[in-house]
Amino acid sequence: MGDLNIHVSSHLEDKYSKQIKNGRNAENLEVKFGFQVEVETSRELTYGHLVRESLSVLQGMKAEGVTEGSIVSVVSYNSQEAHVVILACVFLGATVAPIDPALSPEEMASLLDLVKPVLVYTEGGKTMRKVEAALMYVDFSPIIVVSARHKHPYTTFQALHQPTDPEFKPSVSDPADHVAFILFTSGTSGLPKGVMLNDLYAINCISPLPKRGDMTMLLTSPIFWLSGILLFFSGIANGLRIAFLRGPAKESVIMSTIHNYRPQVWFTAPYTLLAMLSSPSRGQYDLSSLMIVLCGGAALSADSSLRIQKEIFRNKIPVCQGYGMTELGVVTQSMPGLSKPGSVGVLKPGITCKVVDLDEGTNLGPDQEGEICVKGPYMMKGYYNNPEATEACFDDEGFFHTGDIGYFDEDGFVFIVDRIKDLMKYRTYQIAPAELENVLRTHPVVKDVAVFGVPHPLDGDHPMAFVVAKQTVSEQHLLDFVADRVSEKKQLRGVRFVEFIPKTSTGKPKRRALKVQFLAEIQGL
Ligand code: AMP
Repeated sequence: MGDLNIHVSSHLEDKYSKQIKNGRNAENLEVKFGFQVEVETSRELTYGHLVRESLSVLQGMKAEGVTEGSIVSVVSYNSQEAHVVILACVFLGATVAPIDPALSPEEMASLLDLVKPVLVYTEGGKTMRKVEAALMYVDFSPIIVVSARHKHPYTTFQALHQPTDPEFKPSVSDPADHVAFILFTSGTSGLPKGVMLNDLYAINCISPLPKRGDMTMLLTSPIFWLSGILLFFSGIANGLRIAFLRGPAKESVIMSTIHNYRPQVWFTAPYTLLAMLSSPSRGQYDLSSLMIVLCGGAALSADSSLRIQKEIFRNKIPVCQGYGMTELGVVTQSMPGLSKPGSVGVLKPGITCKVVDLDEGTNLGPDQEGEICVKGPYMMKGYYNNPEATEACFDDEGFFHTGDIGYFDEDGFVFIVDRIKDLMKYRTYQIAPAELENVLRTHPVVKDVAVFGVPHPLDGDHPMAFVVAKQTVSEQHLLDFVADRVSEKKQLRGVRFVEFIPKTSTGKPKRRALKVQFLAEIQGL
C-alpha cells in the first residue's frame, strides 16, 4: 500500500487521496474526513491526525531499521496506536503481520518465527509478557515497541514520533505485487500459514458501504482478521466515521455501543447476532440507527437470519450475508434487494467461481453441491515461504479450492452448506486440528490422535479429539493438558479413547469420516 493515492483512488475522491498522499494538507482532512473513535477510551482521532501521526511515527520506525519490504508484527487488538503503526507501515511500504494477542506464547512464537519481523509493536501488560515469552522460543531479536503507558525496557511508541520529513514520499510499488499484509490462517489443512496479501486486496472494499462522511461505521473486527483490515481501510477510504471496539466484545457491550454511538453500518459474525437474539437485555438498547448489518465469517442459517431480522431489527434493518476467506477476500455479498434466505449472496464483480464434484473434479451446474473454487483479482499472492502449500490449493486453471461445499442457483445466488477442509471455526476464530493434535502428541501417553469439529448451534465448532492411548489416562487430564498449552478459544471440548485412527493413503487422519461417524452416533442414527 505504498502509494495510498493510487490504491484507494477508486474509492476515494481524488482530492482527498492526494491530501492523504502528501500528508501536508492534513488539516483539511479533519474537516472533510471526520474521525475515528476508540470506544473503550472515548479517544477521538481525526483522519488528518491519524495521517500526521503515522508520518511522524514512520520516521522513528525508519530510524529503528524498518524499510520498504520489512515485516512488522502488530500484536494488538484495535487501538489508535496500532492503527498509527499500521498506517506508518503502509506509507513506508513495509509489510504488516498482525497477531492475535489472545494466543499463547507458544502459538505466538510459531507465527513470529514464520515471518521473523524486524519490529514488533505490542500492547503492554499481559500481551507484552506473552510476546517476551514467545521470543524466548525463537532465534532472532526484533525491536520491541510498547506504549509508554506501561512499564518496560523497550522502545516506546511515543519515542517513535520524530519530526516529519517534508520531502517524504510514500513508497510506490506495484500494488498487485507488493505485500501489504500477512494474515495467519491454517487454510484448508495443516498448521497456520502466512497469507501474503497485496495492496489491491486491502482495499477490496466490502460492497454496500456508503461513501459518506456523515455516516458512522461500528468496527468490531480485530485487525488480525480479514474483515478488520478490509473495514478499517474501507472506512477511511469511504470517509466514514469509525467507532471501533478493541475487537469482538460481549453482545451487551456492542448493543450499548450502538445505542451510544448511533452507527449506520456494522459488520459482524453470526455468533454475535445469535448471542443478541437470546440476550435478555436487548430491549434496553436502541439499535435503530443501523441502516445495514453485514454478516460473514461463518455460517448463518436461513431460519436464524430471518429470526434475527424480525426479532432484533423488527424487519427494518437488512442483515446482508457475505462469504469470504483470508486467502480470497470477500467472494460473495448479498445486498438489500439482492438477497435470498440462507444464501451468502452473489459473486462480487471480477470474481469467477466454479463448483466441482468432490470425487470426479468435474464442473457442476446450478443446484448441485460440490467444492467451491474461486478465481479473482484479489486473491492472495501465496503462503509466505511456503510454495508447496500455495501450489496445493490452486488447480491448473488457477482456481483456489476453498474446501467449502456449496452450490449456486439459477439466479447466481451462492449457498454454503458444509466444509470438507480440516479447519474448525469457534465463534469465527480459526482452529487448526493439526495444531491441537500436535499438542496432544507431546503427551507421553498419547500414541495417536485425530481432532475434528463437532457442530455447535451458537459457537460453530467444538474441537473433539479421538485418542489412542498407550496406557490409562482420564479425559479430564488430557483436556487440562491441552488447556494449559493453547489459547482459550482453542480449548478441546471432549476426548474419546479409541483403538486406532483410520488414515488416508497418505497417512493423514480421516478427520471427516470420524466426524460423520461420531455425529451419527450421538444422534443415535
Ligand atoms: P477465514 O479465512 O478465517 O475468513 O475463514 C474462511 C472460512 O470461513 C471459509 O472458507 C468458510 O468455511 C467460512 N465462512 C466464511 N464466511 C462464511 C459464510 N458466510 N457462511 C459459511 N461459512 C463461511
